[in-house]
Amino acid sequence: MELFHGRTIAFKDVALSILPRFLTVAMKKYDVGKKITVLTATSGDTGKAALEGFRDVEGVSVVVFFPEDGVSLVQKRQMTTQEGRNTHVIGVRGNFDDTQTGVKKMFTDATLNKELSDRGFMFSSANSINIGRLLPQIVYYFYAYAQMVSGGYIKTGEPLNFTVPTGNFGNILAGYYAKNMGLPINKLVCASNGNKVLFDFFKTKVYDKNREFKLTSSPSMDILISSNLERLLYHVSNDGDKVRAFMSDLSGSGRYGFDYATPDFEAAYATEDEAADAIKEVYANGYVMDTHTAVGYAAYKKYAAATGDGTKNIFLATASPFKFARAVCTAIDAKYGNEDELQLIEKLSELSGVPVPKQIAGLMNKPILHTTVCDTDKMEAEVRSRFAE
Ligand SMILES: *Cc1c(COP(=O)(O)O)cnc(C)c1O
Repeated sequence: MELFHGRTIAFKDVALSILPRFLTVAMKKYDVGKKITVLTATSGDTGKAALEGFRDVEGVSVVVFFPEDGVSLVQKRQMTTQEGRNTHVIGVRGNFDDTQTGVKKMFTDATLNKELSDRGFMFSSANSINIGRLLPQIVYYFYAYAQMVSGGYIKTGEPLNFTVPTGNFGNILAGYYAKNMGLPINKLVCASNGNKVLFDFFKTKVYDKNREFKLTSSPSMDILISSNLERLLYHVSNDGDKVRAFMSDLSGSGRYGFDYATPDFEAAYATEDEAADAIKEVYANGYVMDTHTAVGYAAYKKYAAATGDGTKNIFLATASPFKFARAVCTAIDAKYGNEDELQLIEKLSELSGVPVPKQIAGLMNKPILHTTVCDTDKMEAEVRSRFAE
């Protein structure tokens, strides 16, 4: 299920095209009387999708912080060339965790919130802690299922598996909501890369973030604190006090045990080599996957081999391979390792027979409109100077 045909060729476009409409309707309905400042930390894809989703939306500004050296060349250009009267793009000298921590701090900083409020602004989030990000994603599970039926691949009511390349647990949680709304889903397979904190959680029932953070070729899944898992814990336990205690253990010791069954989920993971081999294997069969989708593919194969589960399965393809041209090309053939990223984008088009997406073609010739770079301790000053002074 290719989810990357939206405005920024990220699966996040699905939800971030709709979220701004939810927000403007809710603002009117509840008569909030303030303008909204959407604060976002991004490791690459969320930022651009949020900028496009919110650009020129009345009553809303969008501020995106990204780690200056932590996103791909294409992702960076996509953001720094962003148009729109209400867009702010700021590079941070630090890694994604520093950037995310800086943003989270601003959400809870009472002084800053008061200053902003006095100026007629309030914060909101475009990250998937916002329930408005999850709801639109429920739809495509139903749509995919319906296509399988109308294509004659399954009978109505026949269960399907879905394999989801997972980071913050938002996309797969939408699948869980779809199942609870009656969609015949057998297993939701949670696929992780080398940062397999979720795999370990489902296998051992212990969530433990105390481990080495690995930089992988599927950076949107490089996460040790998976925000939306908290929501699943609540749905499964139906006990808010317990969930609060788990979260408090998570921010204290970094771990908690969860003694409830989660029969709707299976978990699997793929190493860097396994994901690269998957790209090569599927390429030989005539299809080019991106690195995140490849993690899903490789992980599912391991799961299916281990369990013998023969249920038909849908892979969620979460990114265009053109965004990760270097990793994809070198997985297909190591000889591409020395070419520059822009050449590789052309090469990928040749290899796949797919034209370079229009969102990427021409990107390098677009004027750079955002040049601010700041230290992690100056992020708040950037926001204050734009909204509170
Ligand atoms: C965001 C993202 C993911 C992870 O999705 P979650 O909803 O955070 O689990 C996976 N792949 C890509 C390409 C993404 O951009």
